[in-house]
Amino acid sequence: MANSSKTISIAGAGIAGLTLAIALAKFGFRVVVAERQDAPSEFGAGLQISPNARRVLDTLGLGDDFAANSFAPDAIDIYPHKRTSPINSVQLGDFATKRYDGVPYAVAHRADLLDCLYRAAKKFANIEIHFGVEEIDATQANGGVSILLKDKNSAPFPVTARAHIGADGVRSETRINLLGGPKPQFTGYVAWRALADIDDVAKHLPMNHTSLFWGPDYHVVLYPLPHQRKVNIALFSRHKHKSIERGAELKLGPNRLSIKENSVLAPILDSLYDQFTPWPLFGVTCEHWYKDNVALIGDAAHAMLPFQAQGAAMGMEDAGLLAVLLAAEPDNAKAFAQYQSLRKPRVDKVQKQSAQNGKIFHMRPPKSWARDLVVARQSPDAQLKRLDWIYKHDPFEGLL
Ligand SMILES: Cc1cc2nc3c(=O)[nH]c(=O)nc-3n(C[C@H](O)[C@H](O)[C@H](O)COP(=O)(O)OP(=O)(O)OC[C@H]3O[C@@H](n4cnc5c(N)ncnc54)[C@H](O)[C@@H]3O)c2cc1C
Repeated sequence: MANSSKTISIAGAGIAGLTLAIALAKFGFRVVVAERQDAPSEFGAGLQISPNARRVLDTLGLGDDFAANSFAPDAIDIYPHKRTSPINSVQLGDFATKRYDGVPYAVAHRADLLDCLYRAAKKFANIEIHFGVEEIDATQANGGVSILLKDKNSAPFPVTARAHIGADGVRSETRINLLGGPKPQFTGYVAWRALADIDDVAKHLPMNHTSLFWGPDYHVVLYPLPHQRKVNIALFSRHKHKSIERGAELKLGPNRLSIKENSVLAPILDSLYDQFTPWPLFGVTCEHWYKDNVALIGDAAHAMLPFQAQGAAMGMEDAGLLAVLLAAEPDNAKAFAQYQSLRKPRVDKVQKQSAQNGKIFHMRPPKSWARDLVVARQSPDAQLKRLDWIYKHDPFEGLL
């Protein structure tokens, strides 16, 4: 029978859960991952993988594999409402790679990142992934956790683990049921996502850049996914809480009218409105990320608005650090306390910055005029300088 002090159970084979599984396996843990879906998830669209997230992949030896299916844009062009050319460009490409000590800022399809993690996890004999798990019964027991994984096709699968980690996303049952934590809250924003044909968008925008459009009560992010011949498009708008609660059909109505005034965006989006899928955005503010032998990582602990493109990045940083702490400290209470105290202040700050970006990106005149004046005058490295505290971070620094 496996040594339970070297076994960790994880709920969720998403980005955070698989990153944690790989990091723990490298330290010699046996890792049992329970995933609700029947197969590795292919949902989602594009993700920006900033240098702090990429550093985690590089440390785990996955950088080259990830690079094969991702793309490093040269810049982020900023277009305020009705502008036909960018007022400023955040320099990325080689400029950012040099700034972050050889670590690039890239974009990828979420399914490609998950595939990279999944293939890496499958190479470890000490990682077991159970798909189609409908229920995870977890009971705290004698310095560990007794787990039963249940699905409709087989007998319950028992796991005796040192700790159980909830990497089960924004609607985390681990957070709500095992930690008595809060339910996710609707943020007031909806993301509308679509993938466009790269050749169509190339007629309007440079396909080696990310384009960011700011408008009254909306913003749009577009970036190329060249190996898929697609462009990821995410349009963010506000939405009333009540209609989300009632499950009313989500409509882009007023934002479509604003976007019509935008002569760069309108022709790109015109033929895509039917393809947009709405994603109401929920956030999680959770004070306690652990209790006894159970802890949370990723969106389960701190789902945030995606306006700084850091949700997955924070989950990957959580995973890297938690693996190191569990390997170094046999007492879960001490390892988890250290984990929360090292991670939470940073995550809170990123969460606040993401919410603040929403207010800035969606400003209306006259506030937007002042915003645009400031941004237009900034030097090309000003935005990166402002965000160094996010991108320079290495969760493994001084620990390995
Ligand atoms: C529009 C949009 C754009 C974004 N852009 C970016 C970006 O550019 N960069 C970035 O870093 N982040 C971005 N994010 C955020 C990012 O997608 C999330 O933060 C990230 O996917 C969270 O990863 P996770 O592993 O914590 O959770 P998830 O990806 O949600 O994974 C959770 C996993 O747990 C499984 N699960 C759920 N419940 C159970 C259960 N009870 N039992 C077993 N398994 C369960 C799920 O099936 C899933 O596989 C964006 C988000 C949105 C909505």
